Amino acid sequence: MKVKTKKENKEVLLGAHMSSAGGVDKAVERAISIGCTALQLFTKNNNQWFSKKLEEDVIENYKKLILESGLKGVVSHDSYLINLCAANPDILKKSRASFLDELERCEFLGVPYLNFHPGAHVGQGEADGLKKIIESLDIVHEKSKNYKTLSVVEVTAGQGTTLGYTFEQIKKIISGVEQKNRMAVCVDTCHIFAAGYDISNEKGYEKTFQDFEDIIGLEKLVAFHVNDSKKGLGSKVDRHENIGKGEIGLLGFKLLMNDERFSQIPKILETPKSEDMHEDVENIKVLKKLIKK
Ligand SMILES: [Zn+2]
Ligand SMILES: [Zn+2]
Repeated sequence: MKVKTKKENKEVLLGAHMSSAGGVDKAVERAISIGCTALQLFTKNNNQWFSKKLEEDVIENYKKLILESGLKGVVSHDSYLINLCAANPDILKKSRASFLDELERCEFLGVPYLNFHPGAHVGQGEADGLKKIIESLDIVHEKSKNYKTLSVVEVTAGQGTTLGYTFEQIKKIISGVEQKNRMAVCVDTCHIFAAGYDISNEKGYEKTFQDFEDIIGLEKLVAFHVNDSKKGLGSKVDRHENIGKGEIGLLGFKLLMNDERFSQIPKILETPKSEDMHEDVENIKVLKKLIKK
């Protein structure tokens, strides 16, 4: 297995979501095997509320591999079951406990970012949903004082009743949370485009990130999910597409890949893939080619 040198890694933090089948350390191996310099992973089965504790030797091997590879910008994605503003009290309780468990796993592994979807209000209304999300984060943060892993809220496409599809909503969550320094933001290119932020051309791209700067502040932005969108601008439908094959198109990604403000922010693919990861390899190649030498 060829391990990229640390010097090469400085150029761009680019990678993909990797399967953790066989253990979290296996996700690192997979990332290294295709030359990733950034990585996203689940620290447990994403369709379960809880999982058995990470084993000591797996944690050690994970840390060793991360160190050796020089992989920076590691992001963990939380379980799809978690809804921090669930209307059902049992699910809300479970969601909070599960989120705390996710934070703990990241803390053990030294993963700096836990990416999460804000939640779906399922009929309670947006204002009440946002209030509940803030409450959930406060409860979890209170139980995990001094943790280094940041809670990274992902901008959503706004499908169904999901919250967090405007920068204003994201700002509301961050400023409502007591421990604001525990909070950061991930921009998913597919999601913001589907939510109505037109990053497919220069003017729209500039306006989008000017809005982000004005409303949230670029210092809060710690990760990108780089996905093209199967559906159109403002469609509010969350369907990822391979880079350049969707409605955003290559220009939007060219602007992003050459934006110096974001050069040291991890960019992670969540595009459709098969077990041999050839789609990731292709998408990474496409993105790297867009970088002006
Ligand atoms: Zn995403
Ligand atoms: Zn998505």
